[in-house]
Amino acid sequence: MSRWKKWVRRVVPYVPGEQPAGTDLIKLNTNENPYPPAPGVLKALREMDGAAFRKYPDPAASCLVKALAERYEVDEDRIFVGVGSDDVLGMAFLTFFHSDKPILFPDISYSFYPVWADLFRIPYRTPKLDPNFRIVKEDYLTENGGIIFPNPNAPTGLLMPLVDIEEIAAGNPDSVVIVDEAYIDFGGESAVRLTDRYDNLLVVQTFSKSRSMAGMRIGYAIGQPELIKALSDVKYSYNSYTLNLPAQILGAEAVRDEEYFRKTTGQIVAVREAAKQRLAELGFSFPDSMANFIFASHDRVPAKEIFEALKRERIYVRYFNQPRIDGYLRITVGTEQEMEALFRFLEIYLKNH
Ligand code: PMP
Repeated sequence: MSRWKKWVRRVVPYVPGEQPAGTDLIKLNTNENPYPPAPGVLKALREMDGAAFRKYPDPAASCLVKALAERYEVDEDRIFVGVGSDDVLGMAFLTFFHSDKPILFPDISYSFYPVWADLFRIPYRTPKLDPNFRIVKEDYLTENGGIIFPNPNAPTGLLMPLVDIEEIAAGNPDSVVIVDEAYIDFGGESAVRLTDRYDNLLVVQTFSKSRSMAGMRIGYAIGQPELIKALSDVKYSYNSYTLNLPAQILGAEAVRDEEYFRKTTGQIVAVREAAKQRLAELGFSFPDSMANFIFASHDRVPAKEIFEALKRERIYVRYFNQPRIDGYLRITVGTEQEMEALFRFLEIYLKNH
């Protein structure tokens, strides 16, 4: 055996959803937005001066931070940006979860959390969701070294009311509470305003879902200046130039078009609500999702079979082969036409199985 192998850091990596090649397929497996980015983003992209790539980008991504500060009505020193919310979350684990006590996150949740915890050697506990897949608030009012959960939760789509989030933030003055709001713009109420009052609360959001820019890799966190300073210090100890120039320019353009944002997120919510009805008629049950996906289980046909049948039709959804959730499919809300194609297939398939 090569002797250096003894000193290699061993990790079990996160497995992202499949990104199949080609365009003759319906992709409802990674919660991307089915609509293009705002028109101003595409215009700025066409007009971009490539000669500017010669220089390093602004390490503070000031134009993007300024646009976000205006949109969320907070001072600029309350915003941290990164390469997708994965980068922001990873940085937040490294910065804030530095205690000997275990951090807490739900047993069924974003599967990257245990990966970062293992990578950074952070002890953790995973309180169980209740039988209806709800986060049990009381589980997060016990001793801990930090707290993180998505709201709405993934892959269930269930939203925790803001009063419960406030209770968790207020009940944990000794730890940082991170609310991962990747899916908050599809009908939930954000905890951003609570960060005005709680200095231990960090809210993380992304451009990947509600702003149709998963490929640009932009995420951000909002909290009190001291939290943001701590995050920035860790970032500058690792990689100063995280966001590239196009991401900074195009991200700022996206934030400025509030009308397009409202229109497209509204469309997704409308298509989601119609999809819930169709799924119920087809014999599926599901938690009442407030995200851009539905986590559905069929009353007769196993999820894995439906998943494979859909894949043969080039319709991709997500299946998690894990205890407690292996009876479910996570279906991203696509366009009306994409959902129609999904339902047309399901109607025939389920009749014959
Ligand atoms: N949080 C949750 C709950 C997610 O589902 C995702 C998407 N995989 C992310 C964060 C990360 O998204 P991104 O890095 O694209 O911002």
